[in-house]
Amino acid sequence: MATPFWNKEIETAERSRLEQLQRERLRTTIGWALRTPFYRKKLAQVGIKAPDDIRSLEDLQRIPYTTKDDLRLSFPRGLLAVEMKEVLRVHSSSGTTGIPTVIYFARDDVDNWTDLLARSIVATGATDSDIFQNMMTYGMFTGGLGLHYGAERVGMTVIPIGGGNTKRQIQTMKDFQTTVVHITPSYLLHIHSRLGEDGIERRDLALRKAFIGAEPHSENTRRKLQDLLGIDAYNSYGLSELNGPGVAFECVCKKDMHVWEDAYIAEIIDPKTGEVLQDGAQGELVLTNLVRRATPILRYRTRDLAFLHPEGCDCGRTHRRLSRILGRTDDMLIINGVNVFPSQIEEKIMKIPEVATNYQIHVDKKGSLDRLTVKVEIYPKLFLGEVARLEALKHRIVEELRASIVITPGVELHEPGALPVFEGKAKRVVDERPKD
Ligand code: AMP
Ligand code: ZN
Repeated sequence: MATPFWNKEIETAERSRLEQLQRERLRTTIGWALRTPFYRKKLAQVGIKAPDDIRSLEDLQRIPYTTKDDLRLSFPRGLLAVEMKEVLRVHSSSGTTGIPTVIYFARDDVDNWTDLLARSIVATGATDSDIFQNMMTYGMFTGGLGLHYGAERVGMTVIPIGGGNTKRQIQTMKDFQTTVVHITPSYLLHIHSRLGEDGIERRDLALRKAFIGAEPHSENTRRKLQDLLGIDAYNSYGLSELNGPGVAFECVCKKDMHVWEDAYIAEIIDPKTGEVLQDGAQGELVLTNLVRRATPILRYRTRDLAFLHPEGCDCGRTHRRLSRILGRTDDMLIINGVNVFPSQIEEKIMKIPEVATNYQIHVDKKGSLDRLTVKVEIYPKLFLGEVARLEALKHRIVEELRASIVITPGVELHEPGALPVFEGKAKRVVDERPKD
């Protein structure tokens, strides 16, 4: 399946050319990193004092990993590689806990990042004829401005509405005949559930594509969104530490996301031992910036679990594909000693047709035992149905979940609108167990 390219030469470059680019850019990046107090110290510890100390891509493995804590401890300027006068923009991570992490962009950094997003947008088949409603939060979070700039560069008509206010989102989609939205999957599910309320139905809208990202979601959630809305939904991955969105994006083939390897080196490691794994093996994604001057980040442990596809893609792009994010090293729940990832639960419930668009995973303690309850909203007609059928549905959900997560959860059925709605990243897990 071919689409036009934004930068065909780079997007379809032979592996050897890509690796040559990576080698050159890695050396340049090391030069930038050595201007920061943080990396000067960290790299000196492993004998790297100048860019020429890195000769091959294998030498990357000499560089120690960078962690979120490193970034926090370097707040506010420990990772700044240019004069503040050269900084054009500041972003920070959307995380709400602890000291924020800050990322600086010089003019060329904004330009390079924008180009990656333009490339990503074009890879989905969107064009300058599209009307793009950007429903991601603007501000310090990178999701809003990142896609905004990329969409403008493609020449789309951009509606910078930002997150929230569902009624206004739907009205705006109708008024401007929006064709593409950028949104979290959980919020798009919510928007679907609110269609029809003010007399605006799906048929009044011109929506055809959604870029969904910023939070984990399963293939079944994507399918559900596509079926409910009759659209194509493309997975978009990124994190503010490495720029924001535009690290990896799905192409028209919708078979996982091309990592833009001229701008990032992606590695998968064993999160326990730190050992680098082969393509195809699942582990923690580690990313290195190749084209970011103001805050160059080397070997960042994302805590996102994924794998890289070893084989190519039908679209002709040669950049390797990253699987969807399968979980995070820090979101695993331990329920009475059994490891459970929220993504396993979502995958199962979203494939059950009676389940509507919202759910919550609740954990608490009863006596000495952990108790897992999965709360799901179901469609209103069903909710008002016979008790016996509701019980049967509940039983089916319990069985589906038990087959996947091994333990038997409680399941609660709720009517639509009963569970909390999130306009940005959804918080699906509520863990009320006492912390010790
Ligand atoms: P932030 O730095 O606030 O943009 O958050 C970045 C984090 O959001 C990543 O490390 C992921 O855990 C999560 N994230 C972003 N995009 C996706 C995606 N497409 N699928 C799953 N998780 C995502
Ligand atoms: Zn492709």
